[in-house]
Amino acid sequence: MQFVPHQIPIIEVVEEGKKLSQFLLFAKDEKTLIQAIKTITDSGAKIISGFFKKEKEEIRWTAFLEITDLKTTLEELATQLKNIEGIKEVKYTQPKRILTENFHFPKYVLDARIVLLRIKDIAAAWRFLPGGLAARLYWIGVNCGKESYRVFSRFGLSKEELLKMRENLYRAAGWGIMEFINFDLEKGTGKVKLLHSYEVDALRDYLPGQKRCHFIRGHLAGFLTGLTGMEISVREEQCVGEGAEFCEFVVAPRRPEV
Ligand SMILES: [Zn+2]
Repeated sequence: MQFVPHQIPIIEVVEEGKKLSQFLLFAKDEKTLIQAIKTITDSGAKIISGFFKKEKEEIRWTAFLEITDLKTTLEELATQLKNIEGIKEVKYTQPKRILTENFHFPKYVLDARIVLLRIKDIAAAWRFLPGGLAARLYWIGVNCGKESYRVFSRFGLSKEELLKMRENLYRAAGWGIMEFINFDLEKGTGKVKLLHSYEVDALRDYLPGQKRCHFIRGHLAGFLTGLTGMEISVREEQCVGEGAEFCEFVVAPRRPEV
């Protein structure tokens, strides 16, 4: 299997009789963090999920712990952690069977604030778009794609690198597994293959048996317009929504170059 699912830890649930607690540690370096994690596992807590971020001279480490078999109290565990040299701060929550993430806000990818929405909620919102849903989603996508190019073009990457980064980012953000095929940056032509498009799922009930990836093809068009310097249009040639094995897009300049 090429990719594995990404469970984003903002809520965890354990079976009846078991308990969870969330811990947030501020550590000065990796060695300190490893020592803290060893203290946690030695206490009988099990690490269920979490995330971390190193920023300047500090690592923030967040974890959901299953604490059913904890050999000590939570307070005592927190004290042991605080006593480790290099652990600057410890926060934790009281035990619960169903535990929502307690300490972090807002959410960012790089410096862009993000929110998490269920695909079903996106679909519900789109149903209130006035007529011409497909074209509207496409042009909303074009604007967002142009903005995406503007953001990432500041990184000083080559056009080839930017194309590859965008391809990876569509997957990393959960939109689908995308692959650019024979893309010619000079001519602005090529094909794009997409597996597991979120729009196929989002618009399943609204556009049954039809092409559904309108925002994505607009986003591609906007990004590729920025990248190539030509007005690019993207047409979905086949879609999983209409029974195809994968979605496929054809990329071409909107008007012939003069
Ligand atoms: Zn599609």
